[in-house]
Amino acid sequence: MSILSSNLIRWHKKSGRKDLPWQIDTNPYKVWISEVMLQQTQVQTVIPYFLKFMSKFPNIDSLANSNENEVLSYWSGLGYYSRGRNLFKAAKIIQKEFSSTMPSCLEELESLPGIGKSTAGAIRSLGFKLKAPILDGNAKRVLVRYFKIEDPIDLNKTSIELWKIAENNLPNKECDIYTQAIMDVGSLICKRRNPNCPECPLKRKCLANKENIQNTLPNKSPKKAKPIKKLYWLILQNKNGELLLENRKSKGVWKGLWTFIGFEESNSRLRYQEKLPKDYKILEEGIKTQHVFTHYKLDIDTISIELNKDFQNLDNNKAWFNSDELTGIGLPAPVSKFLERIK
Ligand code: SF4
Repeated sequence: MSILSSNLIRWHKKSGRKDLPWQIDTNPYKVWISEVMLQQTQVQTVIPYFLKFMSKFPNIDSLANSNENEVLSYWSGLGYYSRGRNLFKAAKIIQKEFSSTMPSCLEELESLPGIGKSTAGAIRSLGFKLKAPILDGNAKRVLVRYFKIEDPIDLNKTSIELWKIAENNLPNKECDIYTQAIMDVGSLICKRRNPNCPECPLKRKCLANKENIQNTLPNKSPKKAKPIKKLYWLILQNKNGELLLENRKSKGVWKGLWTFIGFEESNSRLRYQEKLPKDYKILEEGIKTQHVFTHYKLDIDTISIELNKDFQNLDNNKAWFNSDELTGIGLPAPVSKFLERIK
């Protein structure tokens, strides 16, 4: 066993996390759901979502027998909604092709929507107790610093090298403890900023610590500025305080979620506004908000309008919602944030 893995396992037995909700009575399904939720999201944020999700969808069949809208309502506010959509799609495939049983083979796991090599590794290691590597963001950072890998972390050749290192350092037994330990050290000790090296079980052999360059690693390729896209929201409410939302049927980051009526140009919004019953009241306008996605920033401009008369011009994908109903549908984070503001 490598010194890296033995130190990690020893540390985890004494100090690692053992009582996260997905670690209690664990199984491959729980590991899968938690791993997908933990992609791009902090543990503390995930816990309440995980608990709610598991009480509604305790197994593959309950998830597969649901519908996308319902699944997304349990994802509301967690962001990166393709993760929720993929969970649902994958559950359907597992139900149909794997008799509702999570597969343990790497290739079969990787063939499912939303399961990459690292998530598959975590399911195999933590869920099935197999000898399988992971390489999530936390594990990458630990390995990059421990082995002083100075090539930019986002390059393909660095990724290939890190996967080799991850595989070569797997212990023959207690791989699940090793996997949890490297995740824990990455998130609790070897943090992105100000890693707590004096408390780290790897401090003696870690090359970055020895050379005092832990704060400079990992390196990244120079960043390109994110492009900015514009969105113009028309926020319509009626005399009963209900809000008009549209369901994003088309492709895109918010596919399947309910949003305010949105336009890419302010003129299109104006034209729509001109078709409304004339005696409306503008409640607020020019409120701006920004949402940052992985590949671009979205600048949102809003107008809030109260309608006096019923607005009947609803196409299939629009509906009025009162405040109770809003809690039961899938909403993207910027819409939830805006609703908090106008509560
Ligand atoms: S010693 Fe410091 S840099 Fe090295 S793995 Fe531990 S926390 Fe990270």
